[in-house]
Amino acid sequence: PQKLRLILGDQLNYEHSWFRSLDDCTTYLMMEIRSETDYTTHHIQKITAFFFAMRNFADWLKTAGHNVIYIKLGDAGNQQTFEANILKVIAEKEICHFEYQLPDEYRIDIALRNFCKSLAITSDSADTEHFYTTREELADFFKGKTQYVMETFYRAMRKKNNILVFDSQPVGGQWNFDSDNRKKLPKGHTPPKPLVFDKDVSGIVSEIQKNDISTMGTVDAHHFIWPTTRTESLQLLNYFTENCLPLFGSFQDAMAPGEWSIYHSRLSFSMNTKMISPSEVVDAAITEWQKRPDEIELHQLEGFVRQILGWREYMRGIYWMKMPEFSQLNYFSHSNNLPEWFWTGKTKMHCLREAITQSLTYSYAHHIQRLMITGNFALLAGVDPDQVDDWYLGIYIDAIEWVEITNTRGMSQFADGGIIGTKPYVSSATYIDKMSHYCGTCFYDKSKRTGPGACPFNSLYWNFYDTNKEKLSKNTRVSMVYKIWDKMKPQEKVALIEQAQYYLKNVNLL
Ligand code: FAD
Ligand code: SF4
Repeated sequence: PQKLRLILGDQLNYEHSWFRSLDDCTTYLMMEIRSETDYTTHHIQKITAFFFAMRNFADWLKTAGHNVIYIKLGDAGNQQTFEANILKVIAEKEICHFEYQLPDEYRIDIALRNFCKSLAITSDSADTEHFYTTREELADFFKGKTQYVMETFYRAMRKKNNILVFDSQPVGGQWNFDSDNRKKLPKGHTPPKPLVFDKDVSGIVSEIQKNDISTMGTVDAHHFIWPTTRTESLQLLNYFTENCLPLFGSFQDAMAPGEWSIYHSRLSFSMNTKMISPSEVVDAAITEWQKRPDEIELHQLEGFVRQILGWREYMRGIYWMKMPEFSQLNYFSHSNNLPEWFWTGKTKMHCLREAITQSLTYSYAHHIQRLMITGNFALLAGVDPDQVDDWYLGIYIDAIEWVEITNTRGMSQFADGGIIGTKPYVSSATYIDKMSHYCGTCFYDKSKRTGPGACPFNSLYWNFYDTNKEKLSKNTRVSMVYKIWDKMKPQEKVALIEQAQYYLKNVNLL
């Protein structure tokens, strides 16, 4: 009896137990389809990277001796949806049993479950064997609680997986070294050059263009920079632990003109497609730290481990606990449009110009650019979270809904009313100037709050808190903000609100 196994584009797990033995009765099916390229406008590098990585994975499977059907975007028989393509293969190959790995996206999970119910043959699902936690683990962990604090979950994960733990206590005597990890890059300090790959992907790029898929951003098709195999992903991991880990923590929130990845790993695409696993990334970082005790301080390592074992697993758990309602949340009822320059980078605000231009150029921005530059501005400008989500879901190489929507709608836009964050991540120019070197050469004046040339973040910040007083003033984490606001002179407040209203009305000209 013939068995069919589906592999999705983000299920490129070379180490999965499915592939350990060869079986002539099993066929693997992979496909490039319009329903995936068109559910939002993706960055051209994102589609290219996914398709290239998928084709490499299919080649690897074939070379290992497995039976593989790979349907390319432009193939004549491509039905352009999962269901129609699978049905076609089932009929053609006289398949008796269908299997898939549990998807990470709610939308596909529901679709495949319904599809299996409609099948006349038997079906089953398998784990992706990628994450530290199951889909339900976080919901079970917080059962009965009304608050889901990441730090509590992270500590439990450290203990459960015995990571940087000795005798149930954290190595180094502290669970969290966040306070050591907020440094600005010193003037003249140059971070290591990002390791980029240099591949010709012009074939795939022209297939995408020929099929009229609408995309954003640019690509250098003859020098493609992203890892698209397990070997390249491991090279990037190796480069990170050797060169970036020693200062990762210190500069994880730092930003500087022209520096697009600083000490960040850029491993999110490799991990989100499962070419490498979170545990091998964490283990590699710990091994490097053990090898170089005099060079790598614990806080550099712990900051990195927390992102993966903590934040990444936490976001996944929240996603499965709160979907599908999560995707509709709009706590502040925001409804403004995303400024037009989010698609061009053409703004006079230096910080935003850098964050957006580099995102269009590399399909990448690091966490603090996403949170405290673009996300911060979108929230202060009262942008509809649907539009914010669409933009983030399209532009980043690593954007898959489970980790995009939780970060964007939740952490960054506070549209979940505080499920993920305990307070909105907003700031005036003060924070941006503290963590970056953008303000010095900006058209706007970071220290001006009103009048010509005043930095827009300043008035928008106060306008945001004033507008949302009812919803936020009881939050103890922001009570200081309201104390300062309440002490301001009435004419100062009026001037700030008027300035903000002026900027909001002319947001496309900023
Ligand atoms: P590093 O700084 O080197 O961190 C190492 C790894 O930690 C990352 O590869 C990632 O897997 C994990 N990590 C770090 N922070 C987070 C986090 N907040 N949530 C989940 N994992 C985290 N990440 C995505 O993978 N896909 C997204 O679509 C995505 N959208 C985001 C949208 C917004 C508004 C914000 C604020 C963050 C978003 N993030 C997203 C989280 C984070 O910004 C990226 O994971 C990170 O920038 C990827 O770059 P890196 O691999 O160099 O990360
Ligand atoms: Fe950004 Fe304002 Fe600084 Fe300009 S002055 S870089 S707009 S924070």
